[in-house]
Amino acid sequence: PKCNKEVAEANFALHESHCRRFLCLCPDCEEPVPKEQLDQHRLDQHTQVKCSRCNRKVERCHLMDHEADECEERLQCCKFCELEVPWKELDEHSAACGSRTERCGDCGRYVTLKDQLEHDKICPATQAVSGPPPSVRQTPGTCRGCGASFPAEEMEEHEGDFSKKEARSPLSSSLKAVFLSNRPSGELLGDSRDPNQISTCPHCHLALPLLTLRWHEVKCQIHIHLK
Ligand SMILES: [Zn+2]
Ligand SMILES: [Zn+2]
Ligand SMILES: [Zn+2]
Ligand SMILES: [Zn+2]
Ligand SMILES: [Zn+2]
Ligand SMILES: [Zn+2]
Ligand SMILES: [Zn+2]
Repeated sequence: PKCNKEVAEANFALHESHCRRFLCLCPDCEEPVPKEQLDQHRLDQHTQVKCSRCNRKVERCHLMDHEADECEERLQCCKFCELEVPWKELDEHSAACGSRTERCGDCGRYVTLKDQLEHDKICPATQAVSGPPPSVRQTPGTCRGCGASFPAEEMEEHEGDFSKKEARSPLSSSLKAVFLSNRPSGELLGDSRDPNQISTCPHCHLALPLLTLRWHEVKCQIHIHLK
């Protein structure tokens, strides 16, 4: 039917005669419009009006779209200076505006505004930060394996140890080994080692007396494997 509505088949005939009597298609937009409102519709929607910016004539129903997306005089923000510039001048303005240079705060070079995003990726000053500078080396890092903290230069070694151990001995056997060596006698340690001697946990590098350390190592290792 003329109104383009979905109509149940039973009601179709009735509906269509209703439509034919009351509706017509607007010759300008081909939308169904009640016959007695057609003149008003054409006046409201299809009268030519002037765009206040470019003075072009557009149908009133298209004025909003024209102002938002088509009008050559519509204002657009320059991405370099954020000034609002008429659309038709934006290319020219952006080319000039983007060729201005500003000093890079990181490396001190003068970089054109349009190259700044690219420069941020290749700026020699920020590149240097991605490798550890000397001052950072002394600050403790945290091992991803056991959660222990120690200086960055020891981390690689530590993590290397950690993953080697992990690969070589599965949890059950390495834990068993720790439990077995955990007898109070200390005979497994060898005679030369004093149980009160300070040594470091191979997992978190905490310094502890050997007796305490063996207990600690068991917990530390369980803790590690729970991570
Ligand atoms: Zn209809
Ligand atoms: Zn129309
Ligand atoms: Zn316009
Ligand atoms: Zn600009
Ligand atoms: Zn730079
Ligand atoms: Zn670790
Ligand atoms: Zn530990």
